[in-house]
Amino acid sequence: MNDKLEIEEKLKQKITPKPKLILHICCAVCGAYLIDLLKNQFEIILYFYNPNIWPKEEYDKRLKEAEKLAEIYQINFQEGEYNYDLWLEKVRGWESEPEGGKRCLICFRERLEKTAEIAKKEKSLYFTTTLAISPFKDEKVLDEIATLIAKENNLIFLPLSEFGDKKELWKKTQELSKKYELYHQKYCGCQFSFRPTKKEKDL
Ligand code: SF4
Repeated sequence: MNDKLEIEEKLKQKITPKPKLILHICCAVCGAYLIDLLKNQFEIILYFYNPNIWPKEEYDKRLKEAEKLAEIYQINFQEGEYNYDLWLEKVRGWESEPEGGKRCLICFRERLEKTAEIAKKEKSLYFTTTLAISPFKDEKVLDEIATLIAKENNLIFLPLSEFGDKKELWKKTQELSKKYELYHQKYCGCQFSFRPTKKEKDL
């Protein structure tokens, strides 16, 4: 590329704004590497919408850590509404389902639908979530739900497979999580996924 073309290309890159992306974040640990990976391609809005987290003290802890991450990467941050009682209503009848069962499908849908709603409000064509990065989450199920929601809303969902191999992504995620000393929770989020430790049981 000659000098003139190179300058023109650089100017174009400077002038062309990056497309917006709404990145739903379930917790800081799961979000760290994805933000690192996507920050140069997209103007990210980090969206913390997790009304499934119980109790409120735990919610506050995870929220604070997600805010810390947004600060580290200097990206926009939005918090969704926290209404655990309403969330409980939505999963009523599925309380005793195992993790990964029907209750989780409702929980995923709830968070992803709201993320799509924010994408439309912010005029962002793209959305994705950090939910699929955890080895405990079924990436295929999440992709199916999110793709359907994207279709219903004329949006584009970016599946985790677009970003690389899941095992490798998780490895890098943990490395960054250690580097930034992020809080690592011991359970998924709702009261039905909470398993007290022996010490907690004895209290
Ligand atoms: S186990 Fe996790 S994904 Fe499933 S319903 Fe509870 S908080 Fe939601």
